[in-house]
Amino acid sequence: MYRVVVGIEVHVQIKTKTKAFCRCLNTISIEPNKNICPICIGEPGTLPELNRQMVIKSLTAALALHCKINETFHFDRKNYFYPDLPKGYQITQYEVPIGYDGYLTIFTDDSSKRIGIERIHMEEDTGKMLHDYQYSTTLIDYNRAGIPLVEIVSKPDMGNSDEAVAYVKMLKRTLEYLEVSDCSLESGSMRCDINISVNKENTPLSHKVEIKNLNSFNAIKKSIEYEIKRQTENLDKGLSIETETRLFNTQTNKTEVMRTKELAADYRYFREPDIPDITIGKEDFLTGQKAIKELPEDMIKRFRKDYSLTLYLSDLLTSDKKIAEYFEKTAKICNEPLKTANIITTEIFGFLNDNSISIDKIKLTPEDLAELIGLISKNKISYKAFKDRINDLLSGNLDIESFILESAIVTDDIKIAEVVNKVINEQNDAVEKYLKGKESVFMFIVGQVMKELKGTGEIEKVKLLIKEKLDLLARNQKPEQ
Ligand code: ZN
Ligand code: MN
Repeated sequence: MYRVVVGIEVHVQIKTKTKAFCRCLNTISIEPNKNICPICIGEPGTLPELNRQMVIKSLTAALALHCKINETFHFDRKNYFYPDLPKGYQITQYEVPIGYDGYLTIFTDDSSKRIGIERIHMEEDTGKMLHDYQYSTTLIDYNRAGIPLVEIVSKPDMGNSDEAVAYVKMLKRTLEYLEVSDCSLESGSMRCDINISVNKENTPLSHKVEIKNLNSFNAIKKSIEYEIKRQTENLDKGLSIETETRLFNTQTNKTEVMRTKELAADYRYFREPDIPDITIGKEDFLTGQKAIKELPEDMIKRFRKDYSLTLYLSDLLTSDKKIAEYFEKTAKICNEPLKTANIITTEIFGFLNDNSISIDKIKLTPEDLAELIGLISKNKISYKAFKDRINDLLSGNLDIESFILESAIVTDDIKIAEVVNKVINEQNDAVEKYLKGKESVFMFIVGQVMKELKGTGEIEKVKLLIKEKLDLLARNQKPEQ
């Protein structure tokens, strides 16, 4: 038997007005090398100036992850030579991270688990290299150099790919709720490195394989599954596994060797002499603390308890703060949480996906949706008509008043009977089959009548009137037999 140990290092860009140690704007502008100054490209004689907002937002993240806080800390230099690093070193926190020893709760298969957080520290981002293979040349854009990052290092507490994905998803959701970062894996404002080690049960960890720069949940899942298979097969053959850095190839779904890992000593860390020791002031501490409202992990628990929703629905509804707010507002007005949850996670999610928009762009307000749900429950409008026209309601092509008028349930006997007569006259074949004893045709006729009524016929009444009409036809037929 084998045991799998997974730990994750995540870098996220912090949403601040300016960069970490200079006053350049924290935006990736379209034009390369536009947001740069002598400080962030490391010209000699310049001095870094610490961004207070970066410290406060990192503190918020650390507190939200239940970390202990080093209220007094300093920065260190991590030295290495690479073209995207203009100073020749990265300013980071090595000795004293702002936060340590915390946890994040994840939910899998109806149970919850705490994943330990080893440390969370601040550092600056590097520039970006663009390789032009056609002209075999490399271009460098320093706009990203000096953008503030927070790095979150988990403890090796995950045992499979599902837990790893759940962890990254919950971390992303948490930092988004806190407005610390927009956490986009696709655009690179959130970047994941996975550490994985497979060992025989009851033996110590013999090695660590790092998979760099995973930029989708699918890549995280697939790369871990591939490594478990690769390492297990090697152990089965009696081979040892190298400690090394690998890259995930999204074409083959396999990991490939990138380099054998350099040792920490290679970076020749030392204290950053240009930034003095920092102690977080009381006021800044309070500001950082106040930014924490309800955390997603607590919201999931509350949704399950207060609205009696499943973990599955609670998880979906809290995936985005705006969706959670939309749900709560609607459910509170109509007092039908389950129906609201189902409509949001099927019809509305479908519309958002198809149109690649967020929930604040839809034209149906929570008040409107609550009213419609109320009318459906009271059998005043048809659910089928609602499902048929919801896209028009969401896009604003149809206003709610017109919709309520056109989809009001028809309970009037005379009106339904008219449609029943019309359909029975038109569907000679079906009626004949029914009269010969093929009873399954009955529901077909019901369907035809409902279609004619655009789904708004009161179903029991429709069935009753069709039955009466068909019985009458059957009686009239009898003398001929
Ligand atoms: Zn700058
Ligand atoms: Mn780092």
